Amino acid sequence: MYIILLGAPGAGKGTQAMMLAEKLELVQVASGDLFRQALAQETELGEQAKVYMEKGQLVPDEITIQMVLERLAAPDCKDGAILDGFPRNLQQAKALDKALKEQSKAIDRVVYIKVSEGELLKRLSGRWICRKCQAPYHEVDSPPKVKGKCDRCGGELYQRADDNTETIKNRLEVYFAETSPLIDYYKQAGKLLEINGEGGAAEVNKRIAAALQ
Ligand code: AMP
Repeated sequence: MYIILLGAPGAGKGTQAMMLAEKLELVQVASGDLFRQALAQETELGEQAKVYMEKGQLVPDEITIQMVLERLAAPDCKDGAILDGFPRNLQQAKALDKALKEQSKAIDRVVYIKVSEGELLKRLSGRWICRKCQAPYHEVDSPPKVKGKCDRCGGELYQRADDNTETIKNRLEVYFAETSPLIDYYKQAGKLLEINGEGGAAEVNKRIAAALQ
């Protein structure tokens, strides 16, 4: 089963992808996490992606598509995956469809998590992430039990470099210009499930589970 989580930065894709991956026993493939890993390991891929990530722009398709398709070719993705943050434009969506089709596979469902712009800004500016397992927290809405420490794995929490006001603005602009057309693309393919993403993570997760059934 291949499920895409679609939505603006801050919509809760990471949180919901993590919950769904656990529940469905599938791997979560998050393109942003793959880039951040490459950055931390100072690989060539990380170097290439850095300048775009810092500005809140999309990393060029030829780099991104190859990275994600390689990840999806790994043995742990053979029965499917939860895709989070990819595809982010039509070219990526078409490349993904083509690659899956070549293996007689296809995207099953696209979960579009809809959240108002005011809420997105609030969520992104108070966001903390676990360095080790990537679990997200919010300093007001969903703080960790112990300040600075991940509830799940005890890892250190940090704020992403691109969660600053200027970059958040760019990321949202890029989302509305380049990624939001995917809503229609998947609606026309009959794969889109639109979910109200406002409220707590558990509540949103229930809505997603109900829609997927
Ligand atoms: P995210 O963690 O999904 O918010 O992604 C962080 C940053 O990584 C984005 O602002 C982009 O610079 C880059 N990135 C992640 N996924 C993609 C993608 N599918 N296409 C292009 N750039 C991406």
